Amino acid sequence: MMPKPTQKKVAVIGAGIAGLSCAIQLQKMGFGVELFEKSRGPSGRMSTRQGKDWVADHGAQYFTARDPILIAEMSAWIATGIVSLWNPKIGIYEGGQWTESTSHEKRFIANPGMNALGKYLAKDLHLHFNQTIDQISPIRNGWQLSSKESGLINTLFDFLIIAIPAPQAAQLTKSLSKEIQSIFNSVQMDGCWTVMANLDQKSSLAFDAAFINGEIISWICRNQSKPHRNSNSNGKDNETWTIHASPSWSQDNIELEATEASAKLIECAKKLGLDCTHAEISTHRWRYASGSAKPSPECILILTQNLGFCGDWLNGGRVEGAWLSGYKLASQIEQTQNQTPT
Ligand SMILES: Cc1cc2nc3c(=O)[nH]c(=O)nc-3n(C[C@H](O)[C@H](O)[C@H](O)COP(=O)(O)OP(=O)(O)OC[C@H]3O[C@@H](n4cnc5c(N)ncnc54)[C@H](O)[C@@H]3O)c2cc1C
Repeated sequence: MMPKPTQKKVAVIGAGIAGLSCAIQLQKMGFGVELFEKSRGPSGRMSTRQGKDWVADHGAQYFTARDPILIAEMSAWIATGIVSLWNPKIGIYEGGQWTESTSHEKRFIANPGMNALGKYLAKDLHLHFNQTIDQISPIRNGWQLSSKESGLINTLFDFLIIAIPAPQAAQLTKSLSKEIQSIFNSVQMDGCWTVMANLDQKSSLAFDAAFINGEIISWICRNQSKPHRNSNSNGKDNETWTIHASPSWSQDNIELEATEASAKLIECAKKLGLDCTHAEISTHRWRYASGSAKPSPECILILTQNLGFCGDWLNGGRVEGAWLSGYKLASQIEQTQNQTPT
């Protein structure tokens, strides 16, 4: 949707769940919103990898909806089938022992892959993909952007929303004031090594997913246990598992070669009873997977500069927090607009 000439123009950097949520609300309020995303699609860390004949959610595995605002929004997502409840049998592994989780947490997933929610949220928005914003400049009460791929972007924006992980936001804003740079002082984000293993046969594990304590691995999940992912595209019912290393091990070993990291995870998985020796393996390094500011401000609006920040790192570090962070930033902007004398 192109902005009308009289509309206030907002640039949103990052089309993850936070940026998308903020953009949708701002567009509803009448702003002309454009999103800039460095990847070739939306959804950020809520992502799905497509293999030759398999798919696997390799970022966020599921999300919660505890806040009434998100619960209300979710009814539309559930009605369209984009989101559904996932009821996995979850194991807990600790000290060589397995137990079954007794948690009653409601876990939601997007269909047919976690990235489907981002695609759905993006459908009525004006997005520019493959645009890595590498420079932002405050000019005449507005903002000018440049991207690595296209150079100077030929629009002067009234507002700028930065919806990217804290370390990347710190890098992008390093030429701005000390006050802005201090926002990032308390935020530590850890990486995550992820292995996706497409097995050549069914595993003998008794669980759909498991939290692992005290090992290199912290989470394993059989993708086919989620709704709408029953079989692989080759028609075979072999299993694809997502394996996440723990935040602390990942961060300590973030500079390993991918083959070395995946060998460690595969060795640990075997100890848990998930033998990936003959599996097709795909590995991903998330440089900034998890972490958040404490205490969490939910979002940040610097009205004197028409600048806002949203993202999971400002609100607890999960999908739910990211969505709410974007939503709340848009609400704060709306309130200030209503207060501005005409
Ligand atoms: C391995 C892993 C497992 C997880 N598991 C769960 C889970 O089970 N449940 C849960 O709730 N959460 C989980 N999370 C966290 C969840 O994915 C995030 O909290 C949420 O997706 C963050 O959304 P966001 O919009 O704040 O950031 P992001 O999703 O990171 O979105 C930021 C976007 O900005 C883009 N970008 C960055 N820099 C630039 C730039 N300079 N120019 C343009 N675009 C840029 C990125 O490409 C990205 O698309 C997990 C994350 C990871 C990595």
